[in-house]
Formats: sequence, structure tokens, C-alpha cells
Amino acid sequence: LPDFNVVNEPLLGYLPGSAELQQLEAALQKHGATVAEVPIVIGDEEIRTDLVRYQPRPHDHKNPVAKFYHATPEIVQKAIDNSLSAREAWEKVPLSEKIDIFHRAADMMATKYRQDLNATTMLGQSKTVVQAEIDAAAELVDFLRFNAFFAKELTKYQPISEDASVTKNSMRLRGLEGFVAAVSPFNFTAIGGNLASAPTLMGNVVVWKPSDTAILSNYTAYRILREAGIPAGVINFVPADGPVYGDTVTASPELSVVNFTGSVPTFQHLWKQVGNNIARYRGFPRLIGECGGKNYHFVHPTADGATVAASTIRSAFEFGGQKCSACSRLYVPRSRWDEIRTLMLNIHKDVKIGDPTKKENFFGAVIDEKAFQRIKSYIDHAKNSPDLDIIAGGGCDDGTGYFIEPTIVVCKNPSDKIMQEEIFGPVLSVYVYEDGQEAATLDLIGRCPYGLTGAIYSQDQAFAEFALEKLKMTCGNFYVNDKSTGSIVGQQPFGGGRISGTNDKAGGPHYMLKFCSPQAIKETF
Ligand code: GLU
Repeated sequence: LPDFNVVNEPLLGYLPGSAELQQLEAALQKHGATVAEVPIVIGDEEIRTDLVRYQPRPHDHKNPVAKFYHATPEIVQKAIDNSLSAREAWEKVPLSEKIDIFHRAADMMATKYRQDLNATTMLGQSKTVVQAEIDAAAELVDFLRFNAFFAKELTKYQPISEDASVTKNSMRLRGLEGFVAAVSPFNFTAIGGNLASAPTLMGNVVVWKPSDTAILSNYTAYRILREAGIPAGVINFVPADGPVYGDTVTASPELSVVNFTGSVPTFQHLWKQVGNNIARYRGFPRLIGECGGKNYHFVHPTADGATVAASTIRSAFEFGGQKCSACSRLYVPRSRWDEIRTLMLNIHKDVKIGDPTKKENFFGAVIDEKAFQRIKSYIDHAKNSPDLDIIAGGGCDDGTGYFIEPTIVVCKNPSDKIMQEEIFGPVLSVYVYEDGQEAATLDLIGRCPYGLTGAIYSQDQAFAEFALEKLKMTCGNFYVNDKSTGSIVGQQPFGGGRISGTNDKAGGPHYMLKFCSPQAIKETF
């Protein structure tokens, strides 16, 4: 296997007059001018059903970007069968060839198709160019290149053979028998591309259910993977109603992996279904889940106020708070609250929302009506509760798009549901703790059932070390003096524990192990 190294894809700047800005504008024109028609793809067959669906622009919901079709249970089953027939040949393709395909796909995404990925993500998921660029361009490309790198690194270890002239020990990394069910969310195009493609590097085949609210960008990524050389049937693109897909894949004796990013209740439901069907399976399916968070920023009395304010506003409100990693609870000492409040409100007044393709807007609309109603219900709760005080935002308007103002709520009661439940929208809850209560406040933070990301701000190194230890189990991604969002593939492998998921760390060196079944071979001659 040829050796190679890997670096992160650089972000482009989109300055006025730049080539990338011109290309982006052309791509927005192209994808914005028509309603794309997106089929189900099984093997090389395109399928259209009577279950017609539309993907609206969240910021202009009467104006769809794509028309697509939901699969029936029979079609999901057909995708499973098709993937299993593709598996035999794919498994035999040497890893070096699979790596070549991944490199080719990454290069195509980084160059020729970069602006198609960005534009479809901006229009369909209401991302700004900055947010699309770190997702659909850079992170997706990074996932492909780093997974190829990690797969190659995995093969390097070979067990020792004490006397190689008599006995040879070796290991081979086999794919898993059966198929992988990949279920991806709307919020990162890169996550869809990663969940569907990573298992194939190790010889697996995939039945991919993309999110209904990210169809166009995910289909764009799918087509590029195919054009780069992923054979027909190795990844099948199967939009479907959640329960129809879930019931069918978990009932199949051939299910080998559930590769999931989405909500806690959905992952719990899939887990139960797998449990109920356990005696049917050929083996024990592996369950990989990344399920959201209730992420915190903790401010120590020594913290740098400007850093806290800027990074908290960014973490809480970039992409409308719809990142699993978004900061949604902030803990500030009484002695610093006036200053940090003023600094935050100062930035907040310049945070504009609207059409995300317009450069003056910091974020667009939340993804759909259901999300709008859920987030609004938390804001209504804040409006109606004497313990909660909205100090900024609070407005919601779904007339044209699902717009929700960046909202900051101060809570007297740190156990209020607004500080405990995942909202997945632009709502930041603040608890002002008494100076001297730092350790008790860390305990309070740790009592939340989620465990995805967290950040502490402190100029006191000893306190930072203390907090790192005390908060050890409260998150999978921990930041000191930086925001809780924005993990980078290969730099901060991403994922968390508790109800936030199985912490298998997408973008890290161990992720690929989940998709292989190593075989130890002892040969004696
Ligand atoms: N990896 C992303 C970040 O660190 C979040 C991914 C997600 O929302 O699932 O911001």
C-alpha cells in the first residue's frame, strides 16, 4: 500500500472580486433557478414513487429547491438486496484502489464541484457561505481524505511472529458481513457524506437514508462519490419516511451496522428495534450514534470577557444554533456578568438574520416548521415564566421563512428545562452563579444528561486543569478558551458520551475500526 500523508483542506475567503465568489454566485443561480428532481438510486436504477416530496428553502418555504420521492418498504428491501449483491465484488477491490476513489472524490469536491456543494447546502439548509464552506466543502473533503489515511494506517500493524521461518502470524481487516444502514441529519452535508462513505473503505456496502431537509446537497455529494468511482450498489441513495426505513432495515437479518446521527429518541428507538430483533441477525449489529447535546460555556472569574462574548455568540447562533455542538448554556460569575452581558449585547445587536445567500446575514432560517414550533415553544415558555428573563431577541416569524431571532434568556433556576433540554435553535440560556461557587457550578453542569461538547474560559491555568478533571465525563469535545463548535477532522475528532451518543469519534483514527472485523491468521508450514 503506498504511504501518504494528509492535511486539512484550506478554507476559501470569498472576498469581493475573488474567483470563488464568482463561481459561488454562478452555482447559486444555477441551483436556485429550477426545482431539482432527485430520484431514489439503487444500484444504477433510478426509481420514482407516488410518494412525492419537496425540499423547501427554509428561508423562503414556499419555494422548493428539490422534488424527490420516498421509498416504500419494498424499495428499501430492494436496496438492501442490491447492496448485498454489490458487496461480493467490492470487498475484493484492494484497499489501495478504494483509497484512490476517495482521493479522487475529495479532489473533485474541493475543486470542480465545490460550489455546487456549497450552493445546494446554502439554498436547501439555509447556511451562509461561511457555514457551507466549513461543512460541505472543507469538512466533507477532510472526512474523505482522513478516512483514507486512517484506513491505511490501520493496516500497518501486523502481529509478531516469534519464528517466522516456522509460523507466520498476520491480521487482515475484513468488512462486516451484511449491509450498513446510514441515517444522516440535515445540519451537516459533511456528516451525510461521511456516514455513507466511510464504511465502504473497509469493504462494506451501504443503504443511505439522507434527511428530507438536506436532499439536494446530499444527492450532489452522492453523485460525486459515484462519479469518482464508487460502483453501483455500494452506496444506495434511499430517501424514505423514518419509520418505513427503520422498520425495514432493522428487520433484515443482514444488518451489520447502524451508522446514525440525529435525535436521542430516534436513536433509542432504533436501538430497541435492534434489541427486539437480535435473534434474527447473522451477528451482533454495531450501533454508532451521535445524538445531540446541551453544550456549555463556563466562565471563571479570571476569564477574558471579550473572548467569552465573541465565542459564545458565535457558538450559540452560527447556523441558528442547529449544530449538535452549539453552546446553549452559559455560566457566568456575578462579578463579571454586567461586563459580559454588555459585551454580548453589543455583538448581538449586529447579528442579522435573513436570506443566508446575502452576505450581511449571520444566519438564515431554522430548518422547518416542526423545528420552528419546537424552538418557539421554548421561547414562549421563557416569556411565561417568572424565573426566566429574555434580555435579547425573542421574536419568531414564519411568514416567508422559519425565522427566529437570536434569543438570550437569563435563568434564575439552573434546573429549568430551558437549561436542561436540547432546543436545537438560536436560544442561549444564561445562569449567573455566585463568585466562590465555581466548584459547585461545575457539579451543576455535570448533572445534565448530555455529554457532547463544553468549554471553559479561564486565565487561571490551575483552575483550568481542575475543571478539565472535574468535567471529564461531561463532554467528548472539551475546549479551553475557545467555543464549543467547529471541530476539525483529524484535529478534534468529534463525538460525545452519555445520551449524546456512542462517542465513536468521526474524523478520528479509531472511527474506521467500527467498520471492520479483523481476522488473525496463524500459518504454520
Ligand atoms: N462537528 C461539528 C462542530 O464541532 C458539529 C457536528 C454536529 O452538529 O453534529 O461544530
